[in-house]
Amino acid sequence: MVLLLPFGDGRWRLVLYPYRQLATGGTPGAADDTGPAEELLRRITGRDLALGEVEWISHYRCEHRHAARYRHHRVVLAGDAAHVHPPTGGQGLNTGIADAMSLGWRLAAAVADPAHDRLLDAYAEERRRAACRVMRLTGAMLRFNATPALWGHALRVAGLGVARLPPVRRRLAAALAGLPGSGASTGARVRSGARAPDVPLLPTPRSPHRRLFEALRTGHHVHLLPVCGTPDPRAATSALPLLTVRTDAYRQAHVVRPDGHFL
Ligand SMILES: Cc1cc2nc3c(=O)[nH]c(=O)nc-3n(C[C@H](O)[C@H](O)[C@H](O)COP(=O)(O)OP(=O)(O)OC[C@H]3O[C@@H](n4cnc5c(N)ncnc54)[C@H](O)[C@@H]3O)c2cc1C
Repeated sequence: MVLLLPFGDGRWRLVLYPYRQLATGGTPGAADDTGPAEELLRRITGRDLALGEVEWISHYRCEHRHAARYRHHRVVLAGDAAHVHPPTGGQGLNTGIADAMSLGWRLAAAVADPAHDRLLDAYAEERRRAACRVMRLTGAMLRFNATPALWGHALRVAGLGVARLPPVRRRLAAALAGLPGSGASTGARVRSGARAPDVPLLPTPRSPHRRLFEALRTGHHVHLLPVCGTPDPRAATSALPLLTVRTDAYRQAHVVRPDGHFL
């Protein structure tokens, strides 16, 4: 497969996927030599094409590896150190950043008080589950892209048409976000672990924030308290820094973790 991605200023990013070669463990060419890339381009397209002015060239392999555990005593894994998978769907960095967001506040809490050590175990479980989902999806997408048979081509053409349908597109986008409980919980439907949407807040003298994401920048847990409603009981027992804000976006109170997910 050949991917051509325009930068918009006359330059292009060209990605060459020699799927058949990767399946048999082929060796990529040297990174500073355009010869192997041109040879690959000819082999994939079947045409005698040459590369113009090349600014940068690099090669990579489609790895598929997952750490059995994300935590061993004081060692905690995140990002590609924990999970590497094919770049289909562009999720590697996103997943690693989500790891870091989930890990940061937990580490701060555990360092401040060893009683919060279990938060790190919860990180290891939650993020490994999220990475499992990402790896299943990227693996499936790679197989979908790579099948050389005619039926594979027909499936791709049909699949691209289906992927344009708004409900399918929304589901795919949520899955590609690679976060726990993908999709934002809104209104009455709030799931623990789901991403919280950026709801408007009612500023008070003690909390001037106008939006949830703004309040989350404090690095605290945010207690969303409806105008007419009782506090979330977990807010009273939270040993971690907590910021209480008022909102009319929910009828019930909720606590949002510093990484933007519902407790
Ligand atoms: C072709 C391609 C396209 C991609 N496209 C996307 C995309 O569109 N979207 C997306 O989300 N992701 C994409 N990814 C994946 C993304 O690039 C990686 O998931 C991400 O860069 C991983 O970041 P990281 O910080 O976890 O690891 P790395 O970027 O590997 O960083 C680890 C760092 O640690 C350093 N290091 C290693 N060992 C040591 C040591 N012993 N001591 C000190 N330092 C050390 C390394 O030098 C490196 O700088 C793509 C990947 C590829 C190959």
